[in-house]
Amino acid sequence: MIDTHDATPCASGCITYRHLADCTDDHCSGCEPRWATDGLLCGRCHNRLATLLSGPNDPESIAGVCAWLADNLGQHLRSPSGKGEARPGGDSDGQFARVFNALSAAQIVLASWARDWADHSNLTGPSDTNPATVAAWLRPWLPTLCRWEPVAVMLDELADARRDAHTACPWRSQPRVCAGVACPHCHDTALVIPAGETDTHCRNCGLIVPERDYARWIAVLGAEAELGPELTRKEQSA
Ligand SMILES: [Zn+2]
Ligand SMILES: [Zn+2]
Ligand SMILES: [Zn+2]
Repeated sequence: MIDTHDATPCASGCITYRHLADCTDDHCSGCEPRWATDGLLCGRCHNRLATLLSGPNDPESIAGVCAWLADNLGQHLRSPSGKGEARPGGDSDGQFARVFNALSAAQIVLASWARDWADHSNLTGPSDTNPATVAAWLRPWLPTLCRWEPVAVMLDELADARRDAHTACPWRSQPRVCAGVACPHCHDTALVIPAGETDTHCRNCGLIVPERDYARWIAVLGAEAELGPELTRKEQSA
């Protein structure tokens, strides 16, 4: 438990589904910030940044995204299932330009953050602009990067580049829908586990349940479902 008196909100501005003590808004779906635990970031944003900076084998890293886009450049586009399907309504020249632009944008955003960090820290930057090289150069600095004032902007820009890359040339399969499980906060059955993630998200109220808590909670629901009729019988016989 974090003592909220001394805690700093995550610089990314992320919030939880809980409320601050002075919240009086009936329509508020959550206003308590996630507290910074890793430098200026909360644990979740720290992990997002670590993923974005991981190696080309991680499909959710910038290096992995760039490798995927480069692979698909000028090719008949592959779908994540490996079937060579043309994108609906996409002329091949327009599609080439979209993939090319997303690839250059992702490379540029990563390389320019590395250059800014090198300038700020008086370091010699990465030896080339290859995304795998740049990410490998940045990775050891992750704990210090998390204490760098522009880190939230860096995280946003890298995540935007990944999102635009996914729009130009998708690689994720569909999110997993948690069918029949009601959100513990808003009670809507709108829970999904986005593809490539392990946390459960509510598409209605924005609640995020970490993987471990979700597993524990499903186990409790399962136990309640099993014990329910048993308890009722006992009550009746009592
Ligand atoms: Zn609130
Ligand atoms: Zn955060
Ligand atoms: Zn919800």
